[in-house]
Amino acid sequence: MLTGKTALVTGSTSGIGLGIAKVLATHGAKIVLNGFGDVAAAKGELAGIGTEIGYHPADMSQPDQIADMLAYATRTMGGIDILVNNAGIQHVANVEDFPPEKWDAIIAINLSAAFHTTRLALPRMKASNWGRILNIASAHGLVASAAKCAYVASKHGLIGLTKAVALETATTAITVNAICPGWVLTPLVQQQLNARAAKEGIDGEEAKRRLLAEKQPSLQFTTPAQLGELALFLCSSAADNIRGAAINVDGGWVAQ
Ligand code: NAD
Repeated sequence: MLTGKTALVTGSTSGIGLGIAKVLATHGAKIVLNGFGDVAAAKGELAGIGTEIGYHPADMSQPDQIADMLAYATRTMGGIDILVNNAGIQHVANVEDFPPEKWDAIIAINLSAAFHTTRLALPRMKASNWGRILNIASAHGLVASAAKCAYVASKHGLIGLTKAVALETATTAITVNAICPGWVLTPLVQQQLNARAAKEGIDGEEAKRRLLAEKQPSLQFTTPAQLGELALFLCSSAADNIRGAAINVDGGWVAQ
């Protein structure tokens, strides 16, 4: 279905980004991976699929490196048709204790990076008159939690960016939407589970149970593969007129 298309998935060496990259690759898209950590393992997970896989190490907090990544995608794969803005970080502290440099990093990576990739990818999408921009926001783009001021602000902002660009592209074949996961068991959430287990003197399983019970009525984690399938649907022609939506995949979190 996506044969001939190129997808850039930011922050795709781990977790949700890797899950989305796998599903898009399985359906024929060429993939540009991005992110830190074990790049070889991420590439290895996609290696057997049989589509072209590239990688760029751009630090998503650095606009010049983002521009270099877009230039790399154009040079090696002809430009980006599907842009998945997924890279994201978290820091948990009350606002008066929140380190200003963490605030700046979270806004840069979770929000400003999507502005830069979008402004740089759109001209090519307009020229080919097809495109998909998927912003991986969060249930925290729709509702807040305490001790997550920067993350909540960045994800609310990302949904705002999604709506604004969806309106600017509304008469084109380029759609812009946000996906809003609740809890997904990735390294980002594992850190929070570890902190909770240590603070409350409980084991990992009890920490998971308490985390889910607090926010996610299904009491189940969403999986990266499920989010990949939703991304695939948003790339299909059935989704041609879904524009500026923020789709929650959260086990009922924001229904409460
Ligand atoms: P993760 O920690 O498993 O993956 C994050 C990815 O981003 C990694 O590939 C990492 O290398 C990359 N990254 C981090 N900083 C970067 C930077 N400066 N430049 C380039 N890459 C960078 O996390 P995840 O849970 O898979 O999160 C992915 C996205 O999904 C994030 O935007 C996160 O906010 C969002 N999200 C996650 C959950 C969840 O429960 N896990 C819920 C809602 C939204």
